Order: sequence, then structure tokens, then C-alpha cells
Amino acid sequence: MKYGVNDLGYYGDFGGAYIPEMLYPNVEQLRQEYLKIIEDPAFKAEFDELLRDYVGRPSPLYHAKRYSEKYGANIFFKREDLNHTGSHKINNAIGQILLAQRLGKKRIIAETGAGQHGVATATVCALKGIECIVYMGEVDMKRQAPNVARMKMLGAKVIPALSGSKTLKDATNEALRDWIGNPVDTHYIIGSVVGPYPYPDMVAKFQSIISLETKKQLKEHTGNELPQYVMACVGGGSNAMGMFYHFLDDESVKLVAVEAAGKGVDSGESAATTFLGREGVLHGSRTILMQTDDGQVVEPYSISAGLDYPGIGPQHAHLFKIKRAQYVSITDDEALKAGLLCSQLEGIIPAIETSHALAYLEKMHFKKDDNVVICISGRGDKDLDTYIKYFGY
Ligand SMILES: *Cc1c(COP(=O)(O)O)cnc(C)c1O
Repeated sequence: MKYGVNDLGYYGDFGGAYIPEMLYPNVEQLRQEYLKIIEDPAFKAEFDELLRDYVGRPSPLYHAKRYSEKYGANIFFKREDLNHTGSHKINNAIGQILLAQRLGKKRIIAETGAGQHGVATATVCALKGIECIVYMGEVDMKRQAPNVARMKMLGAKVIPALSGSKTLKDATNEALRDWIGNPVDTHYIIGSVVGPYPYPDMVAKFQSIISLETKKQLKEHTGNELPQYVMACVGGGSNAMGMFYHFLDDESVKLVAVEAAGKGVDSGESAATTFLGREGVLHGSRTILMQTDDGQVVEPYSISAGLDYPGIGPQHAHLFKIKRAQYVSITDDEALKAGLLCSQLEGIIPAIETSHALAYLEKMHFKKDDNVVICISGRGDKDLDTYIKYFGY
């Protein structure tokens, strides 16, 4: 694949594995084993069966007729919101738990910010009867109490991170410390296309089911498997990479990635990484991240927990730099309004992350026959409180 990872774990200038020496054995084992395992026919058969019978795949490709009328093009929704547990995150969690089993791991760790990746991880650990430990900042545990309860109900142990700002980056540090201390029996499930190689490639491959299905479904709808546009929101970038994956080499397909501008790109409260960021190392890979002049990571802000991340995965950094994909941003206000519009035009309440992708439709200029696919990355149930507060229902 022209835009895929090379043998050294790089996408152009980005990627690699920038890790402390003590993590080297864990990451090296993954690097040596991951392709052998996930390309094995028995692995593929079990992965496909769980995606079908447990997750509920294929997720539908829905021709959104009222949206199509409003925006003057054929708009299709790829319905990841209909997956078990309500978003695309389960695709990756299933892939990684099957991989962990085949590596002989007895214990799973994960970190979570808003709790969504923690819930997906706790879910697959329950499915497989494997011990699950989720690290979560103490502040986030208070803010996301329902997800903490979900994880506990699923049998996971949630350990508060008590250092620093007591949020996601502190939870990540705790998880890494755990992994260094337990290299033999533990697998670390990372939730997006970030982290040291091979994680970005592995997670992209697990999520690529999204575009694989879309091509086939779009051909059934329109007679052509290639749309003019493919759009998705970007936090770390896993739903976008899954949505782009099988279209990357089809250069006629325009790829649009929507970041969170928060209160505005110049407000000091934003998560618009490609606009505000520069090249550097974050969470084990060389990528683009928001940082101060002396290289400190800047605290990001978005109303949407899933997009509130100071970097993007290295493959996105590459697609941005070489301009294969277009990176844009949407504010909190624009996203919330788009969430309401989707609810009332299509009867689908989207996750606020997804609402960012939907909001960018307002700024596009389509031709009448354009086919446009948007990844509906998740459902809005988890965000009802935020929508309610904003609209005063
Ligand atoms: C976590 C999440 C995202 C952002 O993560 P990516 O890795 O960028 O996909 C987007 N949408 C939903 C619904 C999420 O839960």
C-alpha cells in the first residue's frame, strides 16, 4: 500500500517506536508477532465471526435522504453507532483481545479518558474471561461516573490515577508503568491509531473493516464502489483511518478529516491538532502535536471527550503533510447544532464526536451527483447531558 507503514514502522517522516528501554521487550514481541497472528486464517475466522454475531456487523450504509436534499448530494451514513457498545471502538477491542489470547497473555490493561475505550476493553475482557485493569484519572472518574459503573459491572478493576492533573495523560503513565512491571503476562490495549509501532498499523487494520464494508455497500447503492468524498471526525484518528483505509489508494476519492476546534482555533481552548501543532514525539511515535515553544505538550480542549487529544496518529500526520487528506476543524457550537440537526432530520442522535464530522457538511460545496460517505462513529446516548445543558431541554 502506497500510504501504508514501512518495515521500520514509519509513514514518511512519522511513526516509529520512541519508548523507554524497559518497554522494548513488550513492543518488540508485538512487532514480531502481530502480522503473523492477524493474517492467520483461524484468527480471521474468529474475528469475522465475533464482528458478525457479537458486534452486529456489517453495520448498515444508510442513504440519508433528508440530508441529501439539504446538502444537494447523495449523503450516506456508515452506521458505526449501531455496533454493540455504541461506537467503532469495539472493532479494535475485539481484534486486540484475540491477539492477546494468541500471545498467551492472561491480563489486560488499558487507559481511558472519558471511559469509552475502557468500556470497550472491559466488554471484550468479559467476553473472553480475562482479567481487566483500567487506569483512569481521578478527575475523569468523577466526571464520567456512569462509565466507571459500566466498567465495574463488566468485571473490570478501575484504578484511579492520582498524579499530575489526574486526567488521561496521568492514566497513560500509570498504564505504562504497569506494563513495564508486567511484561510477560500482560497486554496493553491502546484505543486509537496512536502509540509506538506496531499499534497504529494494527489498530488501523482492525478498523479497516469500516471501509471494506462501505465499498461493497456503496456499489450496491450506486453501482460504483468509489464515492467522491469520505468524511470522519479525528481524535487520535481510528474511526477516520478505518473509514479511509481501503480508499487511500483510490486517489479520486477526497478524504476529509474533521478535528475539534473547541471554543475556536485561536481561543487557547482547542484540540485542532494539525492547525495548532508541530512535529514532535507523543505517546511513543513521531507525529504532529500541540506543544509549547520548548516542547511541552499543551492541554487540549473540546466539549467532546473523544476528540480532546493533543495529537493525531502518525499515519494522519503523514496524510496531512503530503496532502492526501484534508484536515479541517469544527467548534463546540457548530458540532452541537449539527447534532441537533441530525436528530431532527434523520432521527439519529449522534455522538458529539460524530457531530463534528456532520457539521463540516455546512462548509462543503457539492455537485448534485456527488456521493458522500460520513462515518457515524458513535451514538449520542452518552452525550445526552451535554446536549440537554446546551439546548436547555
Ligand atoms: C473515541 C471516539 C472518537 C475518537 O476516536 P478516534 O480514534 O479518532 O476515532 C470518535 N467518535 C466516537 C463515538 C468515539 O467514541
